[in-house]
Amino acid sequence: MKKEIFLCAINNVLSGTCLEDCKFCTQSVRYHADIERYNYKSIETIVKEAKQAKANGALGYCLVTAGKGLTDKKVDFVARTAKAIKKEVNDLNLIACNGTASIEQLRHLKEHGIDSYNHNLETSENYYKSICTTHPWSERYETCQNVKSVGLQLCTGGIFGMGEEPEDRDSLLNALASLQPESTPLNFYHPNDALPIKTRNISRDEAIEIIKKAHRLLGEDRLLMVAGGRELLFDGYEDIMFEAGVNSIVIGNYLTTVGDAPTKDREMLDRLGYRVATTCHA
Ligand code: SF4
Repeated sequence: MKKEIFLCAINNVLSGTCLEDCKFCTQSVRYHADIERYNYKSIETIVKEAKQAKANGALGYCLVTAGKGLTDKKVDFVARTAKAIKKEVNDLNLIACNGTASIEQLRHLKEHGIDSYNHNLETSENYYKSICTTHPWSERYETCQNVKSVGLQLCTGGIFGMGEEPEDRDSLLNALASLQPESTPLNFYHPNDALPIKTRNISRDEAIEIIKKAHRLLGEDRLLMVAGGRELLFDGYEDIMFEAGVNSIVIGNYLTTVGDAPTKDREMLDRLGYRVATTCHA
């Protein structure tokens, strides 16, 4: 019997309003990417969408806000949303993804039902200076350490194919491994004409090597996810991606790009003989 695959869904609850200059991100207001930008969704809508995600098989549900980091207003909103979801939807691992965060802010989220915090290192410490000038990589690493120190599960990963060198990829994977995250999303850059990074410098074979290395370094008992860019690199090649060590995927849409319909992914898993995980094994 093949392994179980853990499904995760993303809800962008505050979109496209970030002042930072991350060159890979359509949510930065600096690049005027053609995306939907909106203020906070209503909690009622988010709960409804969480129920739908659960019905689609998601075990992880990620509440994302655009912006560099948590503010008092965001902490309050995400905490109230988490509480409302937990009241109405059982067995959903709630992940918050709200940028840099202090120990106090993370503790508050944990007390209100957040199980896990996602904050990606994005790339190597060295290459990071080429893709973002408005905040340092060290703040990202520190937020991940804060997540661990309050006892939340840590979800941290990065993006490959943004023009980095092979040594940057290794450096990122080693930095991720040093944090011992419960789950790691590997994203493959999705080019967008509005963004300063115009092309993706990664092949499918290179992506598979990264997955294998990540699987080795991070541990077989951890969740290794292919998130953004899966449809671009692995459409029709999902079996090699799972065989290389992936045991988790995002279903539905990403932050600002459209993903495959959840039914299509469920059919793909059935066809390849994988079961959808029904309990969180992270
Ligand atoms: S801080 Fe986050 S939301 Fe803002 S531009 Fe960077 S990656 Fe995008």
